[in-house]
Amino acid sequence: MKVTIIGTGYVGLVTGVCFANCGVDVICVDNNEDKINRLNNGECIIYEPGLENLLNIVIKNKKIRFTTDIRNAIERSEIVFSAVGTPPNEDGSADLKYVLAVAKTFGECQNDYKVFVTKSTVPVGTAEKVREVISNEHIKRFGNIRDFGLCSNPEFLKEGCAIEDVLHPDRIVIGTNDEQARRTMDKLYDEIYDFSDIEKQSKIIYCDIWSAEMIKYASNAMLATRISFMNDIARLCEKTGANVDIVAQGMGLDKRIGPLFLKAGCGYGGSCFPKDVQALIKTGEKYGVDMIVTKAAEKSNMIQKETLFEKLSEALYANQGKTDSIKGKTIAILGCAFKPNTDDMRESPAITLIEQLISNGANINVHDPIAIDNCKHIFANKKHISYYTDVYDCCTNVDAIILVTNWNEYNCVDWEDIRKNYINIDGKHNYEYPIFIDGRNMLSEQKLWKTWMYIGVGKCFPAKQ
Ligand code: NAD
Repeated sequence: MKVTIIGTGYVGLVTGVCFANCGVDVICVDNNEDKINRLNNGECIIYEPGLENLLNIVIKNKKIRFTTDIRNAIERSEIVFSAVGTPPNEDGSADLKYVLAVAKTFGECQNDYKVFVTKSTVPVGTAEKVREVISNEHIKRFGNIRDFGLCSNPEFLKEGCAIEDVLHPDRIVIGTNDEQARRTMDKLYDEIYDFSDIEKQSKIIYCDIWSAEMIKYASNAMLATRISFMNDIARLCEKTGANVDIVAQGMGLDKRIGPLFLKAGCGYGGSCFPKDVQALIKTGEKYGVDMIVTKAAEKSNMIQKETLFEKLSEALYANQGKTDSIKGKTIAILGCAFKPNTDDMRESPAITLIEQLISNGANINVHDPIAIDNCKHIFANKKHISYYTDVYDCCTNVDAIILVTNWNEYNCVDWEDIRKNYINIDGKHNYEYPIFIDGRNMLSEQKLWKTWMYIGVGKCFPAKQ
């Protein structure tokens, strides 16, 4: 089958490459010429494990091509996916201008029956807007409305394991009110996945277009709520002597609850949860429904993102006495991507923390194995911030270390060595127990506690007796 995917970001590029790898003829379109040129040269424009390798295989096999010529791509395809961004408007609602621009172009150049598929995350009711835009273009250009299919096929991939998620999805949602569109989508997914009849029944959900749009937002809001709930519990654990990691373990063994997304930390970020939670609240407002739980999840997350700075202030006070403040201190930030295995920094808790530190006069050393260029870009005009790709350099002569992203490589660092041989190279930093804040409860407190003032999330150290 021939498909066009419009938007070659985290979703469009991974989807295009995976579909092509499964035998589909894919045209990927983007209006950013630089991205298209780099992709045509086999250069991966985002960091996603395994993607560059697969990209070069499908380019070599001529199963994919990259272009800025959207009209030509639409004309040649049976299915056109919109995978463009839906960033938040100032009021938190989803900005649909990119999706509707793509729909307009589809309407302008639709030559025969095609299906327009929304993979971008859009609020319930968007399909009606898309239908209107396409139909209006048909009337303008051709004098009547041409037959076309509409489908909502939301994407559930997770950055960092996106290829696995696309190649082996938990579920595929096909939301359409049109039988021909459903058959066309079925044909595509039959070509991509070798599902048995039983697998097909359990993995593919056929539904109306409104439910498909709602499934995506409801799923993200539920996951965000679980994280925020555990962060509330973590704040209470810190006051009471309970340990949130053990609490989560005990809760997760209950089959009705399950173990996933119960990890307390420094708040969720990324390109999806924060904006989708806000957009769901806004959709509720539009329809007069107060999204009480979703609003609470968002509020809790905002509070949690600020706790790292508060922990640092309290620790400096405890370590060095009343007069001590953050001004002039050097703080190492370990990890600035919103989660490991991605270069994406959108809404990362590291941004909130770095902004708080800068406005309080700290000097910042940031380390990230992959996202450091994005970090430089975000803080391009800021002084007092230095960038590192080596953890040991980043931690040299700092007053405190704050781990923000749980990159696996932090498990391999010799923290004892850093404590002994890097923290006090200039002889000015004479701490008995330098501060180590573990914003992800990633490292072993038992080990670090011996030589550092170790502070985790949702636990007291030393443990209450
Ligand atoms: P992105 O910002 O990484 O990529 C969007 C791409 O679309 C960009 O390359 C941009 O240049 C291109 N674009 C914008 N307007 C265009 C136009 N008119 N013509 C051609 N190209 C155009 O976005 P993303 O993270 O891939 O997300 C895309 C959508 O998928 C969003 O709605 C998002 O909420 C949803 N989603 C994202 C993820 C994720 O993990 N990133 C997961 C599931 C769903």
